[in-house]
Amino acid sequence: MTRCYQCHDHGPTKGTCPVCGRGVILRANIGPRRAGGHRPLVAGNVPKALRPWLTCKRCGLHHVRRNVVLGVGPLPADVLLVGEAPGKSEDLRGVPFVGKAGRILRAGLRQALASLEGAREPTYYITNVLACHPTDKKRGPNRAPTREETLACWPRLELTERLARPKVIVLLGEVARQACSRQWPTAIHLYHPAYIARRGGTASTEFRPFVRGLEEAFEGAREEG
Ligand code: SF4
Repeated sequence: MTRCYQCHDHGPTKGTCPVCGRGVILRANIGPRRAGGHRPLVAGNVPKALRPWLTCKRCGLHHVRRNVVLGVGPLPADVLLVGEAPGKSEDLRGVPFVGKAGRILRAGLRQALASLEGAREPTYYITNVLACHPTDKKRGPNRAPTREETLACWPRLELTERLARPKVIVLLGEVARQACSRQWPTAIHLYHPAYIARRGGTASTEFRPFVRGLEEAFEGAREEG
């Protein structure tokens, strides 16, 4: 088994990680992660303009987070994918979409990219409306972002969009649609991978339109380019 040195996802071979796309090497047999262990984000891997957000205290989530989950992928990127917020696994690892929903997203991305013809494969960057895991005792461990948190984190998302200079933006799920569709009215809106996971994953009837939407995003990015 191999794992990406940066985002810890599994990969089939050594070489460039197909998930985070940062050109990091997949290393073999690092074994299971130690209980409770996590690799904090290293500032050197984060674009300079985004680094101040690694210590952000603009909303109350800084009290409960382990990592600020800024995003993963190359910047700039052809396609910007925006989800809702980091979950528990993402909070531990500092990387978005690493749990069950992440597996669905990557399966969709792989299928969409495989369907493309031509030489250049579009690049993509994955982030969320919030960069910290929304959780509290009163409202539960995986609650939705509040309006205040969304507004507090908006400058970070806007900055990410400016750095990405994407040709196409994809909003994953209702929270991302509500938070971003006014500012980015041409964005493509797709199901959130967590919803697809609840509906049966890659075997569900929602998965095929999800892949089709990603294909449209990649095709649109290539036409723009
Ligand atoms: S969610 Fe965003 S605004 Fe709130 S502390 Fe984290 S980085 Fe800052």
